[in-house]
Amino acid sequence: MWSGTSWSYVVEMTVRLRDLLLGLRELHLGDTPVIVHSSLKSFGQVEGGPQTVVSALTSVFPTALVPTFTYKTMITPRIGPGNNAITYGSGEDQNRMAEFFTPRMRADALMGIIPETFRKLPRAQRSNHPIQSFAGMNAGKFLEAQNFNNPLGPLGLLENQGGWAVLLGVDHTVNTSIHYAEKLAGRRQFVRWALTPKGVVECPGFPGCSAGFQTIAPEMEKFTRKLQIGGAQVQAVPLSMLFKVVIARIKKDPLALLCQQVDCERCNAIRSLVS
Ligand SMILES: [Zn+2]
Repeated sequence: MWSGTSWSYVVEMTVRLRDLLLGLRELHLGDTPVIVHSSLKSFGQVEGGPQTVVSALTSVFPTALVPTFTYKTMITPRIGPGNNAITYGSGEDQNRMAEFFTPRMRADALMGIIPETFRKLPRAQRSNHPIQSFAGMNAGKFLEAQNFNNPLGPLGLLENQGGWAVLLGVDHTVNTSIHYAEKLAGRRQFVRWALTPKGVVECPGFPGCSAGFQTIAPEMEKFTRKLQIGGAQVQAVPLSMLFKVVIARIKKDPLALLCQQVDCERCNAIRSLVS
């Protein structure tokens, strides 16, 4: 009789389009508009790469948005408003390497390859915020909800329209919708600057740090739909409940969802306002 406890086996599984379609449909989101955050690597091997994931997303979700943020446009000025979680005058080297925002600029590598692949679809549209643009499919009204004073406006409208956040192999630390709920809860927003063909523009409404966001997971558990596709845990979260939970949490504890890094400028700026 075999009585060992040490063996295990690994199934080297390739994720195919069919697996993605079946899995995403299993979330039962119907025609609900979604914002998708993703990691291609989390799936393991995907036949056809990011194009396959994007095909599945656009087949299953009639209205979808992805973040196509472009941090390489950012400029650090010599002076600016106080308590802004920035070291003025410190960014000379980055300033020299900053690039002008254009609508065709690649999404930052931090977003993963899936948003960049999505953005390049012939029918995809992109908003024109120089740091926090979104790309969308059939999402014109959501993209138009963005302006300089309300860079995350598309997420506010998404919540208003019953939208969900879909997390493909990533956790709440990349769930940008939490930033919008933070703003609704009255949490401080910051000012940043971006290089555009018209010069350096001021971009208010820049959110805080998201490194502490995963602590929202236990409270969101009962509202979250979860399943596995290949190596990726897929989660779908209703934005209306997410906003309620985040706002309640911050009202109860003004330091909620901040990260624990001692040198985090944005989290420390919020702590200094509270204490
Ligand atoms: Zn932080």
